[in-house]
Amino acid sequence: MMNFEQTENQIMIAQMVRDFAEKHIRPNVMEWDEAQYFPKEAFKEMGKLGLLGVLVPENYGGAGFGYFEYVTAIVELAKVCGSVGLSMAAHNSLCTGHIMYFGNETQKSKWLPKLASGDWIGAWGLTEANTGSDAMRMQCVAKKDGNHWVLNGTKNWITHGLTGDVALVLARTGELLDSNGITAFVVERGTPGFKGGKKENKLGMRASETAELIFEDCRIPEENILGNVGDGFKQAMKILDGGRISIAALSLGIAKGAYEAALKYSKERQQFGQPISNFQGIAFKIADMATRIEASELLIMQAADRKNKNLSVNKEGAMAKYYASEVAVWASTEAVQIFGGYGYTKDFPVEKFYRDSKLCTIGEGTSEIQKLVISRAVLK
Ligand SMILES: Cc1cc2nc3c(=O)[nH]c(=O)nc-3n(C[C@H](O)[C@H](O)[C@H](O)COP(=O)(O)OP(=O)(O)OC[C@H]3O[C@@H](n4cnc5c(N)ncnc54)[C@H](O)[C@@H]3O)c2cc1C
Repeated sequence: MMNFEQTENQIMIAQMVRDFAEKHIRPNVMEWDEAQYFPKEAFKEMGKLGLLGVLVPENYGGAGFGYFEYVTAIVELAKVCGSVGLSMAAHNSLCTGHIMYFGNETQKSKWLPKLASGDWIGAWGLTEANTGSDAMRMQCVAKKDGNHWVLNGTKNWITHGLTGDVALVLARTGELLDSNGITAFVVERGTPGFKGGKKENKLGMRASETAELIFEDCRIPEENILGNVGDGFKQAMKILDGGRISIAALSLGIAKGAYEAALKYSKERQQFGQPISNFQGIAFKIADMATRIEASELLIMQAADRKNKNLSVNKEGAMAKYYASEVAVWASTEAVQIFGGYGYTKDFPVEKFYRDSKLCTIGEGTSEIQKLVISRAVLK
């Protein structure tokens, strides 16, 4: 049975993240958004609070928490700034998570303490310009040369593509469309032949850096392979199963942020001599938002509970991500509507929730891909 009460750790983490976000993030949110500035300094501060190694065991320098605490932290951050929430999710679930789940002892001891402390920022490269949903057709190749592998190709849309100190890169080492033909490599910044490329100019999540990774005859020692040669695609799918819970949490935080702002505004804004919350047209929007947000939270906690118990979250993570992300887009749209003209300006927070939310139905598998995963699970 699931327990719906927040644990002491969750209550403590929520408060800590709220305090941090009010002090270090909220005052700068719009400036970072306008400038597309990734706040590396604030992000590294989060490392000191344990937020960059939430799931990493303490013996590797992490906080050693589970998914309930992880979800709580992302929700609280995303209520203030989706971009920082997205960066936290990508750093923890993707790069750090991949090394934590599939690295050997030497690899974990080498990279996890740096990532968990925030000394190093992590990136994870699966997507390419022509292969997003269809990642198995990737063109980035690695060829063996003695005890090295030579990597050539480009990864696109990579969170921390320029700032990341280390990138986990999936590359083809076998035949096209062979699910055993892809391998995971750890590539450190500064490795000759590895550089960042174009930075994307985005609709939302503008303070989370998204950029290209370029590999030109980049030689990687074979000890930087995670697991076995050919394991990469299956590893990546497992990482995305868990990662989707973090994007669902990001969605929930955005939806809650938009809802809380709209709820407050609806009680303050007067039209026709009364608060607009008195009008059924507005009150029912609030009721629908509250209901769908709670439903999102339940799906997310179900997936988090299963993940904590080491059960498969293939279906549950996809359901949580699909539902919560669609709710985030819908709830932030309704929030703009409740704010009327003011909602359409940058003087109020809802336009940013509206812009940021759309990433959630796209990143780590679009809503259509989530439905593919869910339908495969329920139809089998
Ligand atoms: C801000 C941001 C950050 C990101 N960070 C990372 C990162 O750190 N690392 C990384 O590897 N990637 C990252 N991505 C990439 C992201 O995961 C992809 O954008 C996503 O998987 C979709 O791929 P695509 O953009 O190529 O769209 P496409 O795959 O080209 O899809 C286009 C449309 O076709 C639909 N579609 C595709 N196939 C099917 C199908 N079989 N059935 C029905 N509909 C289908 C899609 O749902 C979508 O609506 C990021 C993207 C963004 C925007």
